[in-house]
Amino acid sequence: MPELPEVEITARRLSASLAGVDVESAVSPGMVAMKSVKPPLSELAGRRIERIWRVGKMPVVEFSGELALLVHLMSAGRLQVYDKRATPKDRRSRVLIRLDDGRELRLREFGTKQRAWAKLMPAAEVAGDEMVVTLGPEAWPAPPLPDLERAVDQPRHLHPLLRDQRAIAGIGRSWVDEILWEARLSPFKKGTELDDEEVERLHAALHVLGDAIDHYEETIGPEVPDKVPMPLKVHKHEGEPCPRCGTTIEAVFFSEHQMNYCPKEQTGGKVLKDRRLSKLLK
Ligand SMILES: [Zn+2]
Repeated sequence: MPELPEVEITARRLSASLAGVDVESAVSPGMVAMKSVKPPLSELAGRRIERIWRVGKMPVVEFSGELALLVHLMSAGRLQVYDKRATPKDRRSRVLIRLDDGRELRLREFGTKQRAWAKLMPAAEVAGDEMVVTLGPEAWPAPPLPDLERAVDQPRHLHPLLRDQRAIAGIGRSWVDEILWEARLSPFKKGTELDDEEVERLHAALHVLGDAIDHYEETIGPEVPDKVPMPLKVHKHEGEPCPRCGTTIEAVFFSEHQMNYCPKEQTGGKVLKDRRLSKLLK
């Protein structure tokens, strides 16, 4: 699942590759992914791609004439450029932007659920779109400390709270584990329970997102692969020694995701085996 660092490197690489290239035509096979009807995708024909950037975890493709395509990748979407055009048999295609130079910018979706979507709108309306206006402050670059303090001042466990895009934008199921581990905070601590020093630790820990982007800058070439090798130290590393203290990394499994943590440094030595036990941890 692409999160802020993965979407950031995708936007940077796509922008480097596509800025200045003209669009020949654009279509949405099946029309399932387009959440807007006006202006129609056909409006993109003849326009130039200006740049690709991101807001939270959402890539934005900007075109000449002040149009923008806001994309939500959901859990399994990818925005990639291909040297050749997709055949009608490619069932993963959601939006195809055919370029004058023969290449194609494609929104594809891996997996069975059709959830990824895109909206075409005047560029000036992106900031006011319901999916953008409701976002919390960007997690990277780290917001000013008081903004983070306000964002997490909620009586909810930090793990779901930090993944809530309305609280803070850009963090998902992988990087939340890394941030909490870096900050030595329990995923089950509530936002309202954090003292000043803990909020400062959480604030400082957001550098892991910037570190990941730096890592991608060094390791990813002009094309971003389908599955970006993420430099994770804790997430999905259950059973391995904590890179900092050597304690065995533990996991809590949920129906669609998992949470990993170092019990010695994050939960006061307590090991949680499933979510029901989380209630016991204060
Ligand atoms: Zn540890």
